[in-house]
Amino acid sequence: MVRTIFPLDHQHRDSPRSLGGLLGAKGADLAEMTSVLSLPVPPGFTLSTRSCRQTLAAGKLSSQLREELEASLQGLSVRCQATLGGPDPLLLSVRAGAALPMPGAMETVLNIGLNDKTTQALAEATGDWRFASDSYRRLIQMYGHLVLGVPMEAFEQCLARARADSGVLKDGELTSDALGFVVQSFLEIVEGEGSAPFPQDPRQQLEGSILAAFQRWNDPISHAYRSRERIHHDLGTAVTVQRMVFGNRDSRSGSGLACSHDPRTGAAGLFVQFVTGGQGEDVTAGNAQVRSLAELEAELPDAMAALGRSVNLLEAEYRDMMSVEFTVERGEFWLLQAQVADRSGVAAVRAAVEGTRRPTNPLSVHEAVLRVSGDHLDQILHPQFEQSQAEVLAAGLGASPGAAVGRVYFSADDALDAYDEGEDVILVKDETSPEDVPGMSIAEGILTTKGGLASHAAVVARGWGKPAVCGASDIIVGDGFFKVGETRVNQGDLISIDGGAGTVFVGEIGTAQSEPNTDMTQILAWADEIREGKLEVRANADTADDALVAREFGAEGIGLCRTEHQFLGERLPLVQAMILATSEEEESAALSALAEVQQRDFLDLLQAMDGLPVTIRLLDPPLHEFLPKIEELSLAESSGTLSEREQALLSAAREWSESNPMLGTRGVRLGILRPGLFRMQAKAIMAAGLEHRSAGGHPRIEIMVPLIINRPELDLVRSWIEAEVATANELADEPLDVRIGSMVETPRAALCAEAIAPGADFFSFGTNDLTQMTLGFSRDDVESRIVGEYVDRSLLGANPFQTLDVLGVGALMRRASEAARAANPGIKLGICGEHGGDPASIGFFWECGLDYVSCSPYRVPIARLAAAQAVLGGLSQPDPR
Ligand code: ADP
Ligand code: MG
Ligand code: MG
Repeated sequence: MVRTIFPLDHQHRDSPRSLGGLLGAKGADLAEMTSVLSLPVPPGFTLSTRSCRQTLAAGKLSSQLREELEASLQGLSVRCQATLGGPDPLLLSVRAGAALPMPGAMETVLNIGLNDKTTQALAEATGDWRFASDSYRRLIQMYGHLVLGVPMEAFEQCLARARADSGVLKDGELTSDALGFVVQSFLEIVEGEGSAPFPQDPRQQLEGSILAAFQRWNDPISHAYRSRERIHHDLGTAVTVQRMVFGNRDSRSGSGLACSHDPRTGAAGLFVQFVTGGQGEDVTAGNAQVRSLAELEAELPDAMAALGRSVNLLEAEYRDMMSVEFTVERGEFWLLQAQVADRSGVAAVRAAVEGTRRPTNPLSVHEAVLRVSGDHLDQILHPQFEQSQAEVLAAGLGASPGAAVGRVYFSADDALDAYDEGEDVILVKDETSPEDVPGMSIAEGILTTKGGLASHAAVVARGWGKPAVCGASDIIVGDGFFKVGETRVNQGDLISIDGGAGTVFVGEIGTAQSEPNTDMTQILAWADEIREGKLEVRANADTADDALVAREFGAEGIGLCRTEHQFLGERLPLVQAMILATSEEEESAALSALAEVQQRDFLDLLQAMDGLPVTIRLLDPPLHEFLPKIEELSLAESSGTLSEREQALLSAAREWSESNPMLGTRGVRLGILRPGLFRMQAKAIMAAGLEHRSAGGHPRIEIMVPLIINRPELDLVRSWIEAEVATANELADEPLDVRIGSMVETPRAALCAEAIAPGADFFSFGTNDLTQMTLGFSRDDVESRIVGEYVDRSLLGANPFQTLDVLGVGALMRRASEAARAANPGIKLGICGEHGGDPASIGFFWECGLDYVSCSPYRVPIARLAAAQAVLGGLSQPDPR
């Protein structure tokens, strides 16, 4: 029989922390802490993800699993010398935890084993009725909500009434009599609003909690969360069952979170949040205060010393910034969870860089580079508000840095509707809960009036790098509006929030790029050393301005200059003149006018990228994009108000109209129909190159032919370009060398790479078109309408236009790269689709043997980091499906 339940001290063959797929991240880390590090962890066992998958398939806990559970329980009873439901009752927590953490999912049931009878036993054993009743009411509340579906508010309202009746502000101040009354009310609430009464049988409590934890894996909220995080929907969750320790025991008890560094800034040193006399969700609900370490050490010296030791040990073992959840029971320290800390981008780079300099056990440079993610850099590069005189409307905690501007919505549903209408949204709530996750995932920023740095909103926002301000308590949320003093902000009004400073402003505040961050610069410099000569990073840039930005961000050249962007705006009439030309003279007059302006553009571009390669793509889009809309002109035509020129444009538009332009007359096909066009472009490029060189520059030109399907096409266009190059070079003192290459963006080109490669100096994979044509997914229609739905339903692992479809498009690329290298060993291979800036895809491109990736200028730093991580083998590959 295959084992599906593992005690925390089980001797696994592999290192337990590598077993997240089986034990869930939480279970794996607890096993590591117990069996490898011998840290003070309450004993328990973990039901593996395997048992979850089996249970979900069967719709119930199988008899086999229940037997195994019984045996595990026996073992735990012996260890703890207490039995479930017995006179000295064994009390348990049931904690769900998947392979990838889903923070803030609030899926834990504490104090299992309490009922009317054992609560009395607990009270007698501890001599503390208050504590026993408090523990019991918490169980009824958590079980009632998570297992029996009672809305949390029902309990919250009852507690609020009890506080009001007793004239106290905090739950912790309720007397044991008041708590006894709350227990009775809670039992009635469950009876009235739950799917069943609260079970007095501890075994039923245990099994009910486990089953519910498994089943929550499939609920829409977990689903939405996983879609956002690109987590497989079919993995299942693990569940850990553990003996309780009690932070609500007395005033020398409490629960908290600690981090080895300040997760906002990265400053080294224990960062502790703690709530005295609190249990479990008291911490995550945001009641925990950031506490000075000195003060806590005075109150709980032994526990704080143990905390410090544990965190140090964990940091040394995981070699990363760590955060832990812990409980202190009557001064005794217990560790309940450890994980690599969620941190802001600024904190990530600082801790990584400083980690290499610490005297003991320093990080290697490679480790430091692997400690930072693309999202961290993205956060640092995120725009910040310009220094402004704007008046602060309200202040809270800067829970997740970055600047966000958007319209206020008060529910996840309204936020989603507004988002669908194309609005930027700021979700404003007293506090958020897992139900809000879909709304949070599309929000520009999140603002809450309650809760602290460990509140649900803060944790989720930091994980996603979304700006968030939490606990802005001056804000009073009403129905469809919020108020701060006299100022009223209605649903749909614009506000700005600064998630670093924790400030809120009315209206829109301008944003500016953030200050350079020296830690980030250091990480990127290391990344560049690691990938040097292995995987180059270029930018897609069409203008000199873009090119300068790209260069500043560290681009090593331009991988794609789209010349069509130079044809728009004031140049449009020139293009139209070329299209409308009825004679060769007219056409060549129009072309030479265009050549002149193009030459200036190319010169600017080459200057901006002096000394670095610049890949210029010949004109690609269908001509009708340069013509007016037929419908508009037709209307004017029927009313007889068309000028002669407009009439001509309309005929041209009709003549060139196509029902499937993306698969029509574009790229090399248009070039072949209008041969003067490509020759003109080649001539303009050469003229710019020679001019740049005579001014002392070092032009490195690459001309790229789009949409190639076979060798004869490339040979034909190549002959034109070579003729122009030869003509230009005849007059030059020294010939200018130009490389000529092909895009690989049709499946046929990829399949025929061995035939095409000998005719090309380089290949650049155009993964946008290649994805569109390989999947038969029109980017204009399918991406918006179908891809989201497919990802939600696990029919696709990710949006293939964001993350490369490795199984399909990737197979074509791999094949084409190998064939191209075999047929033309000197060929240079790159990629210039959107995927060039996607870390997971970059991991694949490296493995595929490409020489460079090219992405948008703002993604260049992220691509530099990802390229280094790929070279180090530290990037996970896209989900193959
Ligand atoms: P989450 O995944 O939301 O972090 P956890 O399973 O970590 O949920 O549980 C939340 C909190 O509940 C823990 O941080 C801890 O304070 C408390 N908790 C869980 N198990 C126990 C236990 N056995 N004894 C005491 N407190 C516990
Ligand atoms: Mg936890
Ligand atoms: Mg293309």
